[in-house]
Amino acid sequence: MKLEGMHHITMITGDAERNVEFYADVLGLRLVKKTVNFDAPEAYHLYFGDEAGSPGSLLTWFEFAGGRRGRAGAGMIHTIQLAVASGASLDFWAERLATKGYARERDERSLSFEDCDGLRFELVVADDGNPPLRAWHPEVPTDHAILGIEGARAYVAEGPEADRDLLAGTLGFDDVGNGEYRLEGEARHFRWGYDITGQRGFPGAGTVHHIAWHSRDEDHVAWQERVAQAGMQVTPVIDRDYFRSIYFRQPQGILFEIATTSPGFAVDEDSERLGEELRLPKQHEHLRALLEHRLTPLTNPRIALRQEA
Ligand code: ZN
Repeated sequence: MKLEGMHHITMITGDAERNVEFYADVLGLRLVKKTVNFDAPEAYHLYFGDEAGSPGSLLTWFEFAGGRRGRAGAGMIHTIQLAVASGASLDFWAERLATKGYARERDERSLSFEDCDGLRFELVVADDGNPPLRAWHPEVPTDHAILGIEGARAYVAEGPEADRDLLAGTLGFDDVGNGEYRLEGEARHFRWGYDITGQRGFPGAGTVHHIAWHSRDEDHVAWQERVAQAGMQVTPVIDRDYFRSIYFRQPQGILFEIATTSPGFAVDEDSERLGEELRLPKQHEHLRALLEHRLTPLTNPRIALRQEA
């Protein structure tokens, strides 16, 4: 039994409108689902990814409207690495971010920047085989599109050995040394690394809420059993409509989820129109009028692009 790499990473934004503008316009990802936080339905949950909303491409946000910025500290992810195809792609993004007014830093192998909430990203050249997971955007040439999520780095207080047993023993990561791990699925891999800090973090806009690893549907319950056997406090299987999930905290405080492949984002919307309408889980459908009134209206830029085409 193997995990298939990373499924999604979920963050907090203080402003859903700016979030859509940054990810669906500036970065050219597709807004593939506009829904609410199932556990707190007065807040948006927005999913961005490739054309199909494939696991491995998904960046998602809870909105805490007007919420203050947080800060990454021990037990929190601080940087997300996105793949591009080449050095020329790094040049393209350096120029595009500058044109859009975002500070960025280029070195030989990467381009770093912060999003509209101060969350740190690195674009890196993907040179070892993750299949490309692209979205289409009229201003982003296919050759330079973002190709999926390549890795992430987290701060820990005690040193990476604190969860080596969980990662390498229970979850099947390869320990590649220096606090770095690699999760090798059948189709995709993911780089996971730790940096030691004494800094205390606090949640808020621009911080990461959790990371989800990708399980094949048929293995999900077995993962839950294996994680429980390793002594973790793991939740029951929770139906998230687009996948099924379990959650547990790794020993240094980072919230882990394991999510299934199915059913995916086309379960309640035509695949041509993903992310265009507000979708609510059935337990919150009775709140639709209230939520549509309260939530800031958000237009998926795809609607206009589809109508032009
Ligand atoms: Zn999640």
